[in-house]
Amino acid sequence: ATPTAVMVATGKGASLGVLIKGGNALEKAHKVKTVVFDKTGTLTVGKPDVVSAVLFSKFSMEEFCDMATAAEANSEHPIAKAVVEHAKRLRQKFGSSNEHVAEAKDFEVHTGAGVSGKVGDKIVLVGNRRLMQAFHVPVGSEVEDYISKNEQLARTCVLVAIDGKVAGAFAVTDPVKPEARIVVSFLCSMGITSIMVTGDNWATAHAIAKEVGIKEVFAETDPIGKANKIKELQLEGMSVAMVGDGINDSPALVAADVGMAIGAGTDVAIEAADIVLIKSNLEDVITAIDLSRKTISRIR
Ligand code: ADP
Ligand code: MG
Repeated sequence: ATPTAVMVATGKGASLGVLIKGGNALEKAHKVKTVVFDKTGTLTVGKPDVVSAVLFSKFSMEEFCDMATAAEANSEHPIAKAVVEHAKRLRQKFGSSNEHVAEAKDFEVHTGAGVSGKVGDKIVLVGNRRLMQAFHVPVGSEVEDYISKNEQLARTCVLVAIDGKVAGAFAVTDPVKPEARIVVSFLCSMGITSIMVTGDNWATAHAIAKEVGIKEVFAETDPIGKANKIKELQLEGMSVAMVGDGINDSPALVAADVGMAIGAGTDVAIEAADIVLIKSNLEDVITAIDLSRKTISRIR
């Protein structure tokens, strides 16, 4: 495209809330045949809520929630925020005087798995099955039943282990964005296939994919796995766009022909992307591709 055409198109994009970082992105977006969507915070609202809690131990619900909160206190993950918020609601409900909850010592983030830390003299893990496996914490059939029941309802389960035993669990829901389904079907009508990649588990991922009408799903992928998936699709000769919001999406955003970041996403994702969807509305994936198609066809 000529510099003038690029200027006009990026100006138009900006007025629509689609920030295009230069001519190269604009040039490439019209060729896109596959759009890869991250799940949490991209297809979903990204504000998970605890909708169920269960104990598998003798701790009281309040003790249990306080320990989970302490472990999650310094985590940036949306699931951590949901756990902390739930514990706070619980304390208010039962009129607990214990306003201040301790922070864990030796806090560690395990990307795509959860967190760990020491609360008092206890070792607390908060995360998924993979985290439990990594720390050799057995997940019994009672726990597995709770997990599978909730995953089928498109919920994500958060397991809490205290001193090497699963003490209880939470189930969180994160609703899909209202426009997600229509965007997927509109892309399809434009000849573009939608795919989902996520760090979350297979069952939850499939349940969400079904809700939005996506048929191809890749779950339990770490940040590098997400980028490798993009590269695989490119090797099949496809021009690929990646839409994501998290730090964990940034390698994939860089690997894609066109990386699109959700405006409400993390700074790292916005940095890594070629296009920023300022309004965080998935309809703007279409706006961006459309703008590119129109600009390119006007030139040729
Ligand atoms: P996504 O790719 O869907 O954005 P992530 O890679 O951020 O997901 O996380 C993958 C999974 O790891 C989550 O679904 C959750 O099970 C677990 N997880 C990650 N961080 C945390 C945390 N702070 N607390 C609990 N679980 C976590
Ligand atoms: Mg995300």
